[in-house]
Amino acid sequence: MINIKVDSALHVLKGAVQKVLNATITTGVYAENDHGRLTVEFDRDINEQEILEIEKQANAKIQENVPIQVLDMQRAQAEQQFGNKIYDKFPIPSHIKNLKVIVIDDWNWNCCIGQHFQKTGEIGTIKITKTRFRNSRNELEISFDIS
Ligand SMILES: [Zn+2]
Repeated sequence: MINIKVDSALHVLKGAVQKVLNATITTGVYAENDHGRLTVEFDRDINEQEILEIEKQANAKIQENVPIQVLDMQRAQAEQQFGNKIYDKFPIPSHIKNLKVIVIDDWNWNCCIGQHFQKTGEIGTIKITKTRFRNSRNELEISFDIS
């Protein structure tokens, strides 16, 4: 299970990546201590300016100190309200009928069973340390530290 700090940061970072790159599908996440990695479907490498913009927007959302809400929802209702954007690449088995949807208003909606802070301001500061584009898989990896 991903630790609370990195898990919370991943939701904020996903929102920024969706906004800046329009990359909406997460294919993987990784966490160790204060280090995390977000992998999304994408078709090219990104430049320094884009990296800085993602970082800036993520940290602005942290500075806003907005609530990270946890909604316990019936799956059908969650899909009706939020559509497919709550899902990552790998489908949740069809027998699961209740979902926890993590909501940062106007930013990120993602079902997730992890633990999260109550507000984004608790996260700290996100620093993107490395990106890597994997051409053969059409995946972009974004590694970050939290301080
Ligand atoms: Zn989460």
